[in-house]
Amino acid sequence: MNVIEKARILGASSKWDRCNAVSLSRKSEFRRARFPGIYYSDKSGCVVPIFKVLMSNACSFDCKYCQNSACCSKPKAAFTPEELAELFYRLYKNRLVEGLFLSSAVTCDADLAEERMLEAVRLIREKYRFQGYIHLKILPGISRELLKEACLLADRVSINIEAPSASRLAELSSTKDYKIDLLRRQRWIAKQNLRFGHTTQFVVGAANESDAEILRMLCWQYKKVGLKRAYFSAFKPLKGTPLEHKEETPDERERRLYMADYLLRKYGFPLKEFEQIMVDGNLPKGDPKIHLAMHYFDAPLDINDASYDELLHVPGIGPKSARRIIELREEGKRIRDVKELAALGVVVRRARPFIKIGNSMQSRIGDYL
Ligand code: SF4
Repeated sequence: MNVIEKARILGASSKWDRCNAVSLSRKSEFRRARFPGIYYSDKSGCVVPIFKVLMSNACSFDCKYCQNSACCSKPKAAFTPEELAELFYRLYKNRLVEGLFLSSAVTCDADLAEERMLEAVRLIREKYRFQGYIHLKILPGISRELLKEACLLADRVSINIEAPSASRLAELSSTKDYKIDLLRRQRWIAKQNLRFGHTTQFVVGAANESDAEILRMLCWQYKKVGLKRAYFSAFKPLKGTPLEHKEETPDERERRLYMADYLLRKYGFPLKEFEQIMVDGNLPKGDPKIHLAMHYFDAPLDINDASYDELLHVPGIGPKSARRIIELREEGKRIRDVKELAALGVVVRRARPFIKIGNSMQSRIGDYL
């Protein structure tokens, strides 16, 4: 099998590992790049083409949702470290990619599989002198030494915990130990000095877990192991896997979890507020911020008297616009109309039902829903 065929198989196999994906319209700038495995990532507002690929897709583990698992007969392939390093460098030199996201199936032994990825990255860094962005996957159960080296070579690493608890993971895999292979490795990663920190991923719905379980584990991760961010992948039943007949998870659930995660991570909303709007442990359909606002406000909020925290709870107002409103007030100025609010960055259409300016209500919540 030649390197291009391997890239086609191993690029496609990496699609379930999420990164900062960008919208189709922004992708179109890069349509000319048609090489397998090239994905587009959002890095601080810039669209960056990344070579996202697996070293091998032949796994000895038995995760029930995964087509790389030992029980699935999908075509298998593997790069040698030299092949992967040279291919990446060629793509980079031809300006088709600006970074690498490298993962792997656990071929027979986690240390051996990680070592092969590290060998490829060493070549990329040392032989080809590539100083740009590398995201490396930490495989479950690898040794501390290899983990440390991965953190030295990469800008970001990730280890996928997949499920929100040991018992939920046990429903999906008999080969991964949640506490030892995953959480203990995350604790080790937390002690390393990584430029862009570490991330994780959940397969949403595969183990019949609730949103409450996921958000609880997420809060624990941010607090205890310094997680930078999480990705969510709505479960899709894949042909040839033991879960091929299980119902798929709607993409809206994935989107709701992203929105809730953003509010936890960037706005600092407490978990208990989400728990108050949940129905049977799950977020209600629609935008979590609107549900939270409907629960939070008894009456429209006077924009000129509201605290920072109250402002932050209004849909359409984020940390930046909330700060600007408070700063204006500290300068002795008052907001007079919605045009002034819009000029401060408020999305007036979303905010209207929840606010008033002076004695003037902007609209009613009922008009909005
Ligand atoms: S460890 Fe599990 S999820 Fe990862 S490649 Fe192997 S079977 Fe798939």
